[in-house]
Amino acid sequence: MRTLFRLLVVLVLLVAIGFGIAWFAAGRATPPVIEIQSPAKVIGQKGTLTVSVQAPRGKFTAVTVAVEQNGKETPLFSLSGPGTATVAQETADRIRISEPFGKQAVPALTAGDARIVATATRPSFFGLREVSATMTRDIKVQLTAPLVQVVSTKHYINLGGSEFIIYRVNPPDVESGVKVGDIVYRGFSAQAAGIPHADPGLKIAVFALRYDQDLNTPMEVFARDEAGNEGTAQFDHQVFPKTFRRSTIDINDAFLQRVVPPIIQQTPQLGVSISGPGDLLPAFLKANGELRRIDAQKIASYAAQTAPRMLWNGPFIQLGNSAVESAFADHRTYLHDGKEIDQQVHLGFDLAVTSNVPVAAANDGTIVHASYLGIYGNCIIIDHGLGVQSLYGHLSSFAVKVGDTVKKGQIIGHSGATGMAGGDHLHFTMLVDGQMVNPVEWWDAHWIADRVLRKLDAVDGESQAAAVDRPAAEAPHRRARRRHRG
Ligand SMILES: [Zn+2]
Repeated sequence: MRTLFRLLVVLVLLVAIGFGIAWFAAGRATPPVIEIQSPAKVIGQKGTLTVSVQAPRGKFTAVTVAVEQNGKETPLFSLSGPGTATVAQETADRIRISEPFGKQAVPALTAGDARIVATATRPSFFGLREVSATMTRDIKVQLTAPLVQVVSTKHYINLGGSEFIIYRVNPPDVESGVKVGDIVYRGFSAQAAGIPHADPGLKIAVFALRYDQDLNTPMEVFARDEAGNEGTAQFDHQVFPKTFRRSTIDINDAFLQRVVPPIIQQTPQLGVSISGPGDLLPAFLKANGELRRIDAQKIASYAAQTAPRMLWNGPFIQLGNSAVESAFADHRTYLHDGKEIDQQVHLGFDLAVTSNVPVAAANDGTIVHASYLGIYGNCIIIDHGLGVQSLYGHLSSFAVKVGDTVKKGQIIGHSGATGMAGGDHLHFTMLVDGQMVNPVEWWDAHWIADRVLRKLDAVDGESQAAAVDRPAAEAPHRRARRRHRG
């Protein structure tokens, strides 16, 4: 009897100890994992709070997020009452919370330091215990937008053409540029562009009005800080319409047989195969439409590689003694057997001399592309800095490679008929921050002098006067200009 009682006591004790150990272990179980994704460092008028929390099977007893500032805590989120927040199940274990954050969404925020505090609690030990984790992030609340002031005057923009603007931003280290409708052109430091005495807030930007944008498209200079606060300024400008030519191109079977198979072969990503003559016309249409758009995106992507300084000097040069076969933004109607099959806009100049003529770099720069590029065949793109680039298509050979530095007039390759070309010619276009623009302006010494150098000279003079105590140095663009005149 006593033995049985002892056994019972030992058993109860063992169970109690076991329960104790389990209880203790449950309290030390892996806590939830919290990740504050945004804001990273600063928040302004508008922004988003994004927090991810993770626990086994995504089970939480509580998740809260708050912001602390000047000893005061403002709740931002609670899993029990998510309000305007979006709660998304990212994986079986992980949820992602996002909601508007910033002064407009949380009026209690004031400029200065703040701390985001996120806490998550998950059940443990059959729901009898809980394990919690807390994650904090120190941020800055920044509420004033950068100031922008336009310095240059008289901006004239042709439809499909380019223009140059000089402006000042404060604070100096913010992102800035020109917005033309929904297209953004980045601004660069004027100091880097060749005005050695310029203050760090002085910026320059090359921008354009695309051939297909409305003449009344709104244009403004903007400056945006890392908190997303944006200041803008209007600038005086006049826009001039331009009529583009219309032309008709007869596509015959000989052209299709010569041109289409190599393009299709070089572009497997288009997913087209040619097994008979009947496939040529549909393949041509796919290349002329879809591939033309893919190529334009690829070409625009090189804008990201532009040098933040002016590598070019003076006017750009046109292929020597060339006949202009097709001008910028020609509207082309394609005919096959007398029937209209397609319409496209030709965004460049077709310049023809004879076969296999040497092609020169239109200005100083760096080679950013030198290989096959869809309908442009063997294609070279030169970066001239500040978002300005030039493109040479349908080449038969390359004399340069990516990374090479070239001088104005240096031979970069030979003309040919690779890609979608009816015969040997050079397809040439200028690009401004990835947008194809009319090269005629860039070939024109008067345009360069009036639109670019006049504005640079004006601020150069001002900057020199403002920097009398610093040793005088001649601006590189002045040297370049003299060199060009000489
Ligand atoms: Zn062309």
